[in-house]
Formats: sequence, C-alpha cells, structure tokens
Amino acid sequence: MIGVYVHVPYCTVRCSYCDFYLVAGPGRDPGAYVDALCNEISAVEAPLLGRPADAVHFGGGTPSLLQPAQVGRVLDRIRAVFAIPSGAEIALEANPEDVDAARLRGWIAAGVNRLSVGVQSLEDDLLRMMRRPHTAIEAMDAIAAARRAGVSSLGADLILGLPGQTRARTLNGIAQVVDLGVDHVSLYLLEVHSRTRLGREVALGRRLPMDEETASALYEEAAGLLECRGFEHYEISNFARPGHRSRHNSKYWTDQDYLGFGPSAHSYVSGRRWSNAPRLDDYLARGGVGTRRIEDDPSRSARAAEALVAGLRLTEGVVLALLRGRYGADFSSPPPEAVADLVGAGLLEGDHEHLRLTRRGRLLSNEVFERLVP
Ligand code: SF4
Repeated sequence: MIGVYVHVPYCTVRCSYCDFYLVAGPGRDPGAYVDALCNEISAVEAPLLGRPADAVHFGGGTPSLLQPAQVGRVLDRIRAVFAIPSGAEIALEANPEDVDAARLRGWIAAGVNRLSVGVQSLEDDLLRMMRRPHTAIEAMDAIAAARRAGVSSLGADLILGLPGQTRARTLNGIAQVVDLGVDHVSLYLLEVHSRTRLGREVALGRRLPMDEETASALYEEAAGLLECRGFEHYEISNFARPGHRSRHNSKYWTDQDYLGFGPSAHSYVSGRRWSNAPRLDDYLARGGVGTRRIEDDPSRSARAAEALVAGLRLTEGVVLALLRGRYGADFSSPPPEAVADLVGAGLLEGDHEHLRLTRRGRLLSNEVFERLVP
C-alpha cells in the first residue's frame, strides 16, 4: 500500500536550527493553500487513482496551523481519490502552542489518529535559544491534553546535542515525556546547518554545540532509558511502544511507494522519484494544478543502494536476498572486506545474507553507510 504525505509549509517563526522549506510569519490563513492542496490531490490520475493507502501523514512546516475543518477537507479529498482502509494511520505533526481540547476534538473527528508533538526540549532556556514559540509547560500540557482527548498513538520529538544542554536535565526531560504516556519518541541529534541562525551563531563563536563524543554518550543513555521504559529502538532516531511504529515513515525505510502533495513534497512511485518545486507562491498562483515537478531519475542500481542504506536504519536490518530478489543484478552486495571490517569494529553484525547495525553502529551510521555503499 502507498503512503500519502501532505506538506504544510507554514510556521509561526523559523526555529534557529531549521533549514526546511517553509514560510514563517504569524497570522497566516492557510485557506487558499488548502484549496490548492485539494486541487492537486483531485488531479491524481490512473494508475494511482483508487490505489490503497494505509498511511496519511501531515508534515511540515507546522500542520497544526491547519484548523480541524481544513484537515477534514484535505482528508475528504484523499478519501475520494485513494482507497483508505479502516485502521489506516492518519498522522499529524503538531506544535505545542497549537494544541488545545477543541482542536484535538476536531482533528480526531476529521480522522487523525496519530499525533507527533514537537517538544524538542523541556528546558525553557533551550527552547528560547531555539526560538521555539512555546514553553516547557505548554509542551507538557499539549501531550497531556492529547492523551486525555484519546489520540490513539501519541508521540513526542526531542533534540539532543544542543548548545548548553546538560545530561541530567535532558534525561529528566525524556523521563517526564514518557511519564506523560507517549507511545513514540523521536530523538534527533542536532545538525547545525550553515544557512540557519544557529549555524551563523556557531560560526561566530556565540554558541558551542555539544561535542560529538558527549552527544553520542548522551544519546546512548537516552536510548537506554527509553528501552528500560518499554520502548523499542526500532530505527536510528525512533523509539516506539509495541504497535506504535510510524507506518508512514516505515515506507521510506522499507523501499515502499509514497506520494507527496504540496511544494517541496517528495514522491517515489514504481521506481520513479520526483519532488514538487519548493515555491509556495507558484503553487498558490497555479492553485495546486500543474505543479512544477523536479524529476529525479535514479538508476536501478542507485535505488538498490539507497534501499540498502534505508533498510539498515531499522533495528532488524536488511535481508540481502530480498534486495537481490527485487533488484536482480542491479543490486551489488556490499564489499565483503568492508563488511568484515565493520563487523570487526563492532559497528555491524550479521553475515553475507543479513546485516544490521549494532547500537554503536547506529551512532556512526553515516560512516558505516559510506563503507558499504562506496
Ligand atoms: S516548527 Fe519545525 S518546521 Fe517550523 S521552523 Fe521549527 S523546526 Fe522548522
């Protein structure tokens, strides 16, 4: 089954570390954008028309800036165009300041059954440094309200490796989030991008990110804490209670098809890959119809290599025979000497048929991938 991704490119403010494509500013009314989205979805043609989709994901940006009725309109369009089975995952990313009882009721009534709350930290000084438009208390209130409202699957996103972040307060924050009853936690290690405000502050020496070794050690401790509390570390950055893995994101890691709507949204269908141009003004001017696409046409061998790398992100790793079955001669098994070196270094385990990252390998995944797919 295919995954459907809906991009919402608005945010109230741009967080200091964020380099996503989005338009930041208060008081925007996404009404015209929702019209354009509905038009783009309605324009889906055969063979995608009517295709079963068991995961719909509203990502961004800040999808919680959409009113429940707007989410409902988009979902109605999606239901009209795709076959959405009962039990499909309908997920929405939310910022804490947008979450209240009325909106939660509305989103759930519209069909949303999974909510990811962008907590990032439970320390107000770090939230201010990141220019997050909410406090720690607001983040905790949002999670508690979502739990009370009966969201079936509730997650929190957190960042590790921030300038000024301390071990004790970070682990305490994670424990607090768990105590609030979340089913899923995404732990992202901070990446400093030069084009961002934080990147400029780091370049000027005004902020000092956590050094790699300390961040890795903190990550391992955080992972251990979550595992002790019943979470499965199922993907490099993701932890879930049983039955709460992200079905939509799993499409990316298991080489399955997904279709994206909205500017900058990516799609991957039957081996073809493309993205919508990251131009909101153009998208709105066209009303979502005839959206400019950027085609990306990877060779089968490139796709096979990407499938290997994506699959290794998952705890269960990759069965190479499955990739060989899918890609035939276009799949090149990883060089045996690289596998042996990585196994010897404690970064990889398995044999010539089944490979998976070790716990340490997950922290150094980029180095492992570079060796396996030179
Ligand atoms: S809310 Fe998310 S998408 Fe928006 S600026 Fe912050 S990190 Fe980026």
